[in-house]
Amino acid sequence: MYEEEREKLIKELRQQGIRDEKVLEAIRNVPRELFVPEVLRHQAYKNIALPIGKGQTISQPLTVAIMTEALKVTKNMKVLEIGTGSGYQAAILDYLGAKVYTIERDFDLFKEARQRFQDLGLKIATLCGDGTIGWKEFAPYEGIIVTAAAPDIPKPLKDQLAVGGRLVIPVGSKTSQIMYILTKIDQNEFEVEKIPAFQFVPLIGIEGWKNEF
Ligand code: SAH
Repeated sequence: MYEEEREKLIKELRQQGIRDEKVLEAIRNVPRELFVPEVLRHQAYKNIALPIGKGQTISQPLTVAIMTEALKVTKNMKVLEIGTGSGYQAAILDYLGAKVYTIERDFDLFKEARQRFQDLGLKIATLCGDGTIGWKEFAPYEGIIVTAAAPDIPKPLKDQLAVGGRLVIPVGSKTSQIMYILTKIDQNEFEVEKIPAFQFVPLIGIEGWKNEF
């Protein structure tokens, strides 16, 4: 099922500049239809964000592709994700061989994603809580990916990144963000690359936006 739609999406992602064959392969093989509400399954392979309940969205496939490419995932790489949402981005990272740790602040979304991982037989570590303070227990991480919009880069995430590791995070206002790709070159030294322009739901927490939604 969805063969044709899937190939069409891959073609579109190539046209939009995604070059990493492994990332394209992951998007081809992870069943996005299982990460969206049943009534929206027919739209699962459109290159659009879709609502997943609680006012949240599963990111557009192009965004997932750009962020995953930027993270440069290698086998057994330890990756922390903030904003589990549907669990789709985490499943993509898992497909690429990463050891994935993911945090979601909403308890309902957290439970649903955890159930999905179980149903799909994915060994992904899940936590319900405020991801802006990271997950100290398993730090440092070789990669950290934040899939909600931050007003600034949370310091705990910088601290929990391993030297040589990369942090991918959309930073900006609540309505528009720039993707920051940080590479930690020394304890307090980072190299920064930026990609405009993205639109994420807000990152809410101690080191994020205050909860006023
Ligand atoms: N990566 C997700 C998309 C997530 S949407 C996917 O593949 O489907 C962003 C998610 O971040 C929402 O579910 C929201 O509840 C969550 N979120 C917002 N602030 C957070 C925080 N401080 N810690 C953890 N999760 C947070």
